[in-house]
Amino acid sequence: MADRTHAGQVATARRALRITVRGVVQGVGFRPFVYRIARENQIAGWVRNTSWGVEMAAEGEAAALDAFVHALRHEIPPLARIDALTIDEATPDGLREFEILHSEAQTGAYQPVSPDTATCADCLHELLDPADRRYRYPFINCTNCGPRFTIIEDVPYDRPLTTMRAFDMCPTCRHEYDDPLDRRFHAQPNACPVCGPHVTLMDADGRVLAERDDALRRVAALLREGAIVAVKGLGGYQLACDATDAAAVIRLRQRKRRPHKPYAVMVTDLEEVRRHAEIDEVEAALLGGPAAPIVLLPWWSGSSIVREVAPHMDTIGLMLPYTPLHHILLRDTARPLVMTSGNLSEEPIARDNDEALRRLKDIADYYLVHNRDIHSRYDDSVWFVAAGEAQPVRRARGYAPDPIGLPFEARPILAVGGELKNAFCLTRDRYAFVSQHIGDMENLETLEHFGETLALYRRLFRVEPAIVAHDMHPDYATTRYALEQPGEHVAVQHHHAHLAACLTDAGMPDEPAIGVIMDGTGYGLDGHIRGSEFLLGDARGYRRAAHLAYLPLPGGDAATRRPNRIALAYMQTLAAGDDLPPTLRGVSAAEVETVRTMIARGLNTPFTSSAGRLFDAVSALLGVCGDASYEAQAAIELEEVAQKDARSGDTALYEWETAPAGEAEGGGITA
Ligand code: ZN
Ligand code: ZN
Repeated sequence: MADRTHAGQVATARRALRITVRGVVQGVGFRPFVYRIARENQIAGWVRNTSWGVEMAAEGEAAALDAFVHALRHEIPPLARIDALTIDEATPDGLREFEILHSEAQTGAYQPVSPDTATCADCLHELLDPADRRYRYPFINCTNCGPRFTIIEDVPYDRPLTTMRAFDMCPTCRHEYDDPLDRRFHAQPNACPVCGPHVTLMDADGRVLAERDDALRRVAALLREGAIVAVKGLGGYQLACDATDAAAVIRLRQRKRRPHKPYAVMVTDLEEVRRHAEIDEVEAALLGGPAAPIVLLPWWSGSSIVREVAPHMDTIGLMLPYTPLHHILLRDTARPLVMTSGNLSEEPIARDNDEALRRLKDIADYYLVHNRDIHSRYDDSVWFVAAGEAQPVRRARGYAPDPIGLPFEARPILAVGGELKNAFCLTRDRYAFVSQHIGDMENLETLEHFGETLALYRRLFRVEPAIVAHDMHPDYATTRYALEQPGEHVAVQHHHAHLAACLTDAGMPDEPAIGVIMDGTGYGLDGHIRGSEFLLGDARGYRRAAHLAYLPLPGGDAATRRPNRIALAYMQTLAAGDDLPPTLRGVSAAEVETVRTMIARGLNTPFTSSAGRLFDAVSALLGVCGDASYEAQAAIELEEVAQKDARSGDTALYEWETAPAGEAEGGGITA
């Protein structure tokens, strides 16, 4: 910078830099961006992809180089993310041009892979422009949007290693793909109606009814008539129906065998969201952002979306269209559409065309399929905003496999995750690659999904785990899987894992902390079911300082489907006398007696300190939910009631006691 005082000299002095960038920098328009800012600043040199990131040589006048580096740091494309940038002085070579060079592959090297991203504003504009060659083309995309993770089989991210290899680009698409100044330069899924994938409409028996735009227009008409349509989306099939048609929604519930669990609804744009729900700026940014998740929102009573979509709820999960296919469907039907995972309860989302026809046979009336294969199953992500902060409930589409940065260098570890709402994690260097939501590990399909996804992550990020971490619970499918893997095995207490994850997420794994864990089920060392803990410790170890009192759970885990029974058990244990509160008087005398006998004799009645079961009992005692058809229903509906009270100014006080324990239980993972 001192050189600048001699302006005359600087004007002629040429400098050269070698720059390396790590992060999400491939498949996101990074090289064309570098090319453009190089030309804008009269910088000569080159840029190329490597197996670990992007490398470039830049040569020019000092002030121009400063401007170039400033742009490199501050003007990156929307999907790119720089994790590390190194700049070294080099000797000028007298270069005059700036070029994009071919990729340099290195074995063992890896880099983050971009998640799939919602249709960008430029593509949406073209999609809706009758003069554009991609008008109403349901697979329009560019370097700033479209499928990524769901179509990638291996790295480097190049078309032959994606499911797009089946389609040869037409000359016009090829020209866009080869032009560094085009928005579709090296957009691997680039396609058009001439050369790319297309949609087909089939009936329940797999007979073709219509293709291409004709199929889209007929689907819209069918949806408006109340049909249930299986739609092949980004990461799997979704089941769609008119969210303003109670009969259609009820039919979907019956066929999916899901009587109460809320469905998500897709609406055309933010303006329409405001007609159904209350949203603030944070929620609007989430809904309209590149990940475009489902966001849980306060539901207007005047909304045209029927209550059958989310029975007993004042909250609704809304999302915006995130693929061109969804944009067309929503505009053509001009109705809010239920968009729920294409599966039976608890199974993973259906992915392949044959699989959808087989597994969704008794659910869907019609199938809107297409011929671009999905490599990875990818559910919709679910978020909510509390106290102005966005919180994930389910992290999948739009987020995974983007890694979480670690505050330390990690050995290669595989953490296999728990039994319900499973996700696994692989670590390497300073990255934690947390998988997308896998699901409940209680059926064969989910186990296969787990195995396939884990194999993909290991391949993409080149991780050979030296340590395999698993839950202490001996009967979890993931525990059995972990014990069959080579490497050092580490059993982690469920709630210590929660504490360690929170501390690491906050960047302070070694700081002493009080961890308050309010959970449903975690395997403990004393044979009881643990669910609420006050732990003192850090990521390395902990002491259990307090927990909720242990109470009997007649029937064990099966009782979670019957909150009334939990309430009975808690009443019988905690309250004197045989009087039942009015809300439990509907329970049969036989069941009351059964529960009494089970507790008295200790028959199939483990003890639990679960916060989830406490919520179940309170929910049943207040007459909110005595029978549950999906996991956590009683707690979710109790929360609805509590929030309504909070909004109306009523407050309720629930008293509970802690039973100090204080035994030290030592550590989990030693890093
Ligand atoms: Zn785009
Ligand atoms: Zn084309």
